[in-house]
Amino acid sequence: MAIRFVIIGGGPAGVQAATYAARLGAEVTVVERDLVGGAANLWDCIPSKAMIATGGVMSVTRRAQTMGLAALDASLDADALRSRITSIEDHLNRSVTGLLESQGVRLIRGLGTLKGPHQVVAETADGIHELEADAVLLSTGSRPRVPDWCEVDGERVLTTRQAYPPPEMPSHLVVIGSGVTGVEFVHMFRSFGADVTLVVSRQQVLPQKDPEVAAALEDDFLRRGVKLLKGARAVGIDREGNEVVVRCDDGRMVRGSHALLAIGAVPNSDGLGLEEAGVVTDGGYVPVNQHCQSSVPHIYAAGDLSGKLPLASVASMQGRKVAEHVMGLHTREHRHLDYEKAASAIFTEPEIADVGLAEAEAFAIGRKIRVTKVPFAANARAVIDGDPRGFVKIVSDPATGVVLGGSIVGTGASELISVIALAVTANLRVADIVESLLVHPALAEALADAAE
Ligand SMILES: Cc1cc2nc3c(=O)[nH]c(=O)nc-3n(C[C@H](O)[C@H](O)[C@H](O)COP(=O)(O)OP(=O)(O)OC[C@H]3O[C@@H](n4cnc5c(N)ncnc54)[C@H](O)[C@@H]3O)c2cc1C
Repeated sequence: MAIRFVIIGGGPAGVQAATYAARLGAEVTVVERDLVGGAANLWDCIPSKAMIATGGVMSVTRRAQTMGLAALDASLDADALRSRITSIEDHLNRSVTGLLESQGVRLIRGLGTLKGPHQVVAETADGIHELEADAVLLSTGSRPRVPDWCEVDGERVLTTRQAYPPPEMPSHLVVIGSGVTGVEFVHMFRSFGADVTLVVSRQQVLPQKDPEVAAALEDDFLRRGVKLLKGARAVGIDREGNEVVVRCDDGRMVRGSHALLAIGAVPNSDGLGLEEAGVVTDGGYVPVNQHCQSSVPHIYAAGDLSGKLPLASVASMQGRKVAEHVMGLHTREHRHLDYEKAASAIFTEPEIADVGLAEAEAFAIGRKIRVTKVPFAANARAVIDGDPRGFVKIVSDPATGVVLGGSIVGTGASELISVIALAVTANLRVADIVESLLVHPALAEALADAAE
């Protein structure tokens, strides 16, 4: 009899696990309360990058004259942008649904709950479905954190989910939180022409990132007129007519037309029946081992709920590893998921991307490394394209030449980082990059130069 595999939550983790396990022969059911594709498609990755893409076109038109064109003027049509985002989401939802159906996955639209270690209940519009499972995957994701010191009204005090775009375009947006999400929204709304103030609780934006990379972004923000309020922790937001006032712990206040919270996420684990099934939790997250098993071996957790790296790419890979484990593939050829080797990108202007060991991290742990760096100003394609900002930095092992990591700041960083990610995953040496015959003129040539 086929293994009965029930998945609660159809985001990147759930979809990847479902399609791969079905292909390997499992009888798979996905219970999704909303639309498959998950928050990633509906609220996070896709709408945010669609907004950034539109802002990017506006930026390009602003520098048209530097490219030998007469001045162009692009003004934002918020309704057209909203419908563009909806049509992208519809397209992706249809393609994910088609993919699941083509693999014979049963899709139930409803709220999933564990009713015991082997029982899942799906509450749907037409009644309750009781499902027996040999293996269960919990991939219910997360949602924006809303602190108790403010009230989100969806009009002027927003989470990211109400900002695609909000009912009225902000004239002055105050962004609270300077992690990846915060800086992407700063960039996005600044591209649309809004004044933007960023409340930064520490002295560096992107506190988790290489200081040189963070400095490059700060410089760009300041050049574009973004105001940085450093060392300030927001403690309250008041509405005053058509304005918001953000209060900080040191007494400073910022007045704007809108405030946007980008201060992290909370896991979607309440009411999931974890306790009843005996699954151990930690702060609402479900801790997992290297196979993504929870404290109950046949109940897995993947994606944001697992409390590992909150990235759609990581969620998908976890889903794949779960499918392999459920189907017993891990006993044969199997590569463990190495979170240290996950590439990530920040879709600002310039883009920022990194993978593997960072220079600052190597110094902190006293590891000997070789760091090589070249600016895009020395790259023909970047100069031709009119945007030679940024650099490529490669971190390698001085003894073996094996590539350990890298950071890229510049146009196309989110694509170019894939080459370094492949090198890090496959233990390639810098010589392998240097000796690749690349296209000319191409931004990727900067990778070969940096590897030299
Ligand atoms: C603004 C923003 C931008 C981002 N951009 C990127 C990016 O560019 N690249 C990137 O890699 N990551 C990005 N992320 C992170 C990424 O969105 C998440 O890491 C990813 O969505 C996690 O995938 P998941 O499978 O865990 O869950 P989700 O995508 O959150 O999906 C979970 C699904 O479970 C469903 N669900 C929840 N509870 C139940 C229940 N009880 N029953 C049935 N269904 C349920 C939900 O409806 C949802 O569809 C971004 C995050 C944010 C906030």
